Amino acid sequence: MSSTAISRRHSTPMIPGHEIVGRIDTIGPHVEGLHLGDRVGIPWLGHTCGRCSYCQHGAENFCSQPIFTGYTSDAGFATAVVAHANQALADLRAGRFQGAAVLVP
Ligand SMILES: [Zn+2]
Repeated sequence: MSSTAISRRHSTPMIPGHEIVGRIDTIGPHVEGLHLGDRVGIPWLGHTCGRCSYCQHGAENFCSQPIFTGYTSDAGFATAVVAHANQALADLRAGRFQGAAVLVP
């Protein structure tokens, strides 16, 4: 866990379960490369801002405004979750499991 994560407080009640897999049943208007019904993985680091100095220097794990799946956002035990397409949504369609390797150490 990064020092940023330690300083973050999760909201309660919160539904736990990080590093999850599911299918897209709703998709935002500006998402590219993912489609309704796609099977995707959602990592622990569910969102980074892309603008802070950490993100700008390739250290997204220390982002100043992260969202952590299962800690600052509802996660795997929920019936539905919101995922951010800009943060490593691994495409788990048949034959494309290489992108999911980071989800299963
Ligand atoms: Zn950031």
